[in-house]
Amino acid sequence: LRVALAQFPQQVCRKCVTRVGFIKCYSTSNSILDGFYGTVGNTPMIKLNGVSKETGCDILVKAEFMNPGGSVKDRAALYLLKDAQEKNLIKDGGTVVEGTAGNTGIGLAHICNALGYKCIIYMPNTQSKEKIELLSVLGADVRPVPAVPFDNPDNYNHQARRYAESLTNAVWTNQFDNTANRRAHIETTGPEIWRQTGGKVDAVTFGTGTGGTMSGVATYLKTKNQNIKTIVADPQGSVLYHWYTNGRIERSDGSSITEGIGQGRVTANMQGAPIDGAICVQDTDAVEMTFRLLHEEGFYLGASSGLNVAAAVQIARDLGPGHTVVTCLCDTGQRYFTRLYSKSWLDGKGLLEAIPEKYRHSLIE
Ligand code: PMP
Repeated sequence: LRVALAQFPQQVCRKCVTRVGFIKCYSTSNSILDGFYGTVGNTPMIKLNGVSKETGCDILVKAEFMNPGGSVKDRAALYLLKDAQEKNLIKDGGTVVEGTAGNTGIGLAHICNALGYKCIIYMPNTQSKEKIELLSVLGADVRPVPAVPFDNPDNYNHQARRYAESLTNAVWTNQFDNTANRRAHIETTGPEIWRQTGGKVDAVTFGTGTGGTMSGVATYLKTKNQNIKTIVADPQGSVLYHWYTNGRIERSDGSSITEGIGQGRVTANMQGAPIDGAICVQDTDAVEMTFRLLHEEGFYLGASSGLNVAAAVQIARDLGPGHTVVTCLCDTGQRYFTRLYSKSWLDGKGLLEAIPEKYRHSLIE
């Protein structure tokens, strides 16, 4: 028996990193999954060794870039489509229209292919060309439009809604204000975090775009333990830092290069969420951490992942050694190859100096 038990630690479920044999593995990865959508979620929970050692805390990250469409937004995309189907808003062969910074669109495009729907994506033309090209390759009709604020009728979300309304058998999935998005995280990400940490979690923090991840995880975890701190990680130039620290809708200074996060309003997905506070993370810190994650931890990611981990480190320092802080790695660096990993682009944004000199050798020109 001792010999048999000794072998168990190596037998780890590939998706949820639970030791199979000791503790029940809830991941479905040992069974046959149901198409693309069956593979969404159940991402690994990973301890970041360097920053954990530095802070004396466990800094744990959900590997959301390992979702089949490559980002945390696969979860929201799946729930938004399930919601449309349940409400009979779309029939076979119908069209899905969405406004997105890219990742929700990428998730939707994959699921639309799997379910036989057409997919039309409106996105601000400030987003990376990698995301726009990927959407085209996936077969989506992608429409980059000028980036204007939400209160402007030409904002990408309003354009998506109007276009969907002009079609028959079409749905605007409305990720910002359709709370099916937050439900994805109440029903999947939150429970996964609780299970994978065995309930040993002191704080969670996430950058917020729609707010689905932050509010969904916070909502679920607070039902398990009110004392878990729920902290928004806000990029410079977003309003949520002020909203959650002094109740004012007011932008923090600057504007951010982090794609997919930062907000000018409190979306329906964020309204009523049990949030304890917010941290404003500067781009210099987010970019530096993104490169540390690559060169010290081995993860090639987008800047929102760096921002999340920078916030987690700050929270860990505030809490002191012995605590556990959880966040996520949202998407892969491949989506920002010609920006975040380009010397000239970073230089143009004044961010080259943010990258430790020893890591600049790997930048493309
Ligand atoms: N990181 C990236 C790269 C994203 O695209 C998004 C969503 N736009 C987020 C983080 C934030 O996710 P949420 O919409 O759930 O707030």
